Amino acid sequence: MDFINCHCGSGIPFQHCCQPYHLKKKTAPTAETLMRSRYSAFVVADADYLYETTHRSKRKNHSKNGYRSSAKNTKWLKLEIVCADFDVVKFKAYYLNRKFQTEVLHEKSNFRLEDGKWYYVDGDFYS
Ligand SMILES: [Zn+2]
Repeated sequence: MDFINCHCGSGIPFQHCCQPYHLKKKTAPTAETLMRSRYSAFVVADADYLYETTHRSKRKNHSKNGYRSSAKNTKWLKLEIVCADFDVVKFKAYYLNRKFQTEVLHEKSNFRLEDGKWYYVDGDFYS
């Protein structure tokens, strides 16, 4: 088996970092872990995971197909956690645009803990 460093930049192999969350072997214990695992899910185009970790109240704004095409059409380069609180994570996610230039998505994401599971609620962008 191939051991690659996790996409989320933790320095831990994917198999021991975000993949167990994708495979539902583990539940993300913190908002930051969920955020990291969702970033990794974008990299590997795991639309089911992205959809399932979106809070129920917000699922109408997202679809598995939407997540899938967004994930497949974006070449994510790296994730940088700016700061993480109990239920808020600020991060920068770098990606290549259509002209192969690096761009950065700077977002403050809101999460909610419900029945022992973390969910992504929504995010605000910084320009
Ligand atoms: Zn990871």
